[in-house]
Amino acid sequence: MVVIMKRGFTPEELEKAIHTMEEGGVKVMVSKGAETTILGAEGNADGIDQEKLSLLPGVDRVMRVTEPYKKANRKYHPENTLVDLGNGALLGGEGLAVIAGPCSVESEAQIVAVAQAVKAAGAAALRGGAFKPRTSPYAFQGMGNDGIRLLQEAKAVTGLPIVTEIMSTDNVEMFEMCVDVIQVGARNMQNFDLLKQLGKTTKPILLKRGLSSTIEEWLMSAEYIMAGGNEKVILCERGIRTFETFTRNTLDLSAVLAVKQLSHLPVVVDPSHACGKAWMVERMSMAALAAGADGLIIEVHNDPPHALCDGAQSITPAQFSGLMDKLRTLAPCVGRTL
Ligand code: PEP
Ligand code: MN
Repeated sequence: MVVIMKRGFTPEELEKAIHTMEEGGVKVMVSKGAETTILGAEGNADGIDQEKLSLLPGVDRVMRVTEPYKKANRKYHPENTLVDLGNGALLGGEGLAVIAGPCSVESEAQIVAVAQAVKAAGAAALRGGAFKPRTSPYAFQGMGNDGIRLLQEAKAVTGLPIVTEIMSTDNVEMFEMCVDVIQVGARNMQNFDLLKQLGKTTKPILLKRGLSSTIEEWLMSAEYIMAGGNEKVILCERGIRTFETFTRNTLDLSAVLAVKQLSHLPVVVDPSHACGKAWMVERMSMAALAAGADGLIIEVHNDPPHALCDGAQSITPAQFSGLMDKLRTLAPCVGRTL
């Protein structure tokens, strides 16, 4: 942390600023220039109340020079973190792991058929929403507990681990028992009570980026989970809201590179929610692989025109199989395996 003093500060004001910083647990280095006096904090500045310090008379500006996230930070953990999806498929290593399945679980026949198809094409895990965050209260809200049960049946048939979204803190215990990877949706990225509770679980957490969240806010949400003791966090870029309306969101592929540099956590890309258009999914998946994503999460439906949710962005099992073939061809070119 660096503090810049105002011009004409008094010795008492300087003393007060130094004292406030020292109270926060750091050593203070004073640099007196002809124009500007700067106070540098040496050591961990987390204990300093930045707002209180910036309001002191004589203080012009307070700037952080280190990131506020520690556990998610690559500086303190240079090696990639590997997260096991539950069946030995690892995210964060050389391999690309693909999670696939419908937006929502709709029936036993549907989820089992899609699970079998995506497994045959090479998916590492099955996705499917049972508790759905819908913009309209009149839209299909998901099958709830029955949906979780059907996902377990699909897992029993295929062996694929299941990834599904949690919406309420009331369900944390049930999810911990019943699912392999707990998804936090974009709309709940900053549901801090939920994040804190998930920090106490042992299951991997797939943390989607909020609709309008900065990379730092996203990493701070990962930090909430990790601070609670659960370090198995998978970040998911799913597009952000911009002025563009042609696509559902704008896929921020540069965020994959940014997050891989800033953090040791694995990153997956969701081209389905990012673009909202099935015909864009294949190319954007290939782009995500080229950008360095550790995995993909893709919506696949056996009958997209009749899907109860997100049919327009869902690809068919045959299209998914073609996509996996393309990814297998591309992976060695960018130094990855599939
Ligand atoms: C989903 O994965 O079905 C979903 C609702 O995604 P998001 O939270 O990214 O909108
Ligand atoms: Mn969806």
